[in-house]
Amino acid sequence: VASREVKPESTQVVVRDLKVGAGCLGVMAGPCSVESEEQLITTARAVKKAGATALRGGAFKPRTSPYAFQGMKEEGLKLLAAAREETGLAIVTEVMSPEDVELVAKYADVLQIGARNMQNYRLLEACGRVDRAVLLKRGPAATIDELLLAAEYILNEGNQNVMLCERGIRTFETHTRFTLPLATVPYLHQKTHLPVVIDPSHGTGHAYLIEDMCAASVAVGADGLIIEVHPKPEEAMSDGYQSLNLDQFAQTMTKCRKVADALGIEM
Ligand code: PEP
Ligand code: MN
Repeated sequence: VASREVKPESTQVVVRDLKVGAGCLGVMAGPCSVESEEQLITTARAVKKAGATALRGGAFKPRTSPYAFQGMKEEGLKLLAAAREETGLAIVTEVMSPEDVELVAKYADVLQIGARNMQNYRLLEACGRVDRAVLLKRGPAATIDELLLAAEYILNEGNQNVMLCERGIRTFETHTRFTLPLATVPYLHQKTHLPVVIDPSHGTGHAYLIEDMCAASVAVGADGLIIEVHPKPEEAMSDGYQSLNLDQFAQTMTKCRKVADALGIEM
């Protein structure tokens, strides 16, 4: 169902002002985790001003360690909905289990399926049955064909608003947190009509690499970017080392806009 042979024209996912695909580049930005009302609304106002059309932020966090901060859960979802109320930004947030889909869909516009859950088939099916766009992240050890087959589980339940996300894979390289293969973008564009989003934050694990990888992503035709942004990255409860501060995000957007303009991409 995701194949270009079945549907030659590119799919565009539209949620509020967020437009991803078919010549439009949508930017989703915000903290790794929702931490407080102040942190979230400060970030939301700044990313909106810089040109993002969606606010990301995890309320249910899949942490490597069970002793690490696990997210604010429903309280975090309420803060996201309040930030949307004020700014109009679409809300992107992760759902970790099929039982939570209804709850998360009550507050969110885009359901993020995390890298660790790419092959959680019951979760994929549950997200395929709700009227919310889905951002499906590639598992760090999954092949591109496995990512495409995972997307089929969602599409087959009826939901056609699916975005694929390259967020880096595990390789022998240790200098970056994961290895971010940008060839995924043109490769997927040839294979599928679904839009392709790049996550340079998890893909590199270093804030100083984000701006250049964003510009490169736009240059290879990415349909969207999802970027971690925090007002005080050094104080973040998760992923601070790979989060841009508010000024760095604005600067990154300026650079992306130059590349987008040169290529005739709407941003
Ligand atoms: C995240 O977006 O904060 C996240 C946990 O991403 P991933 O599933 O790609 O690791
Ligand atoms: Mn994160």
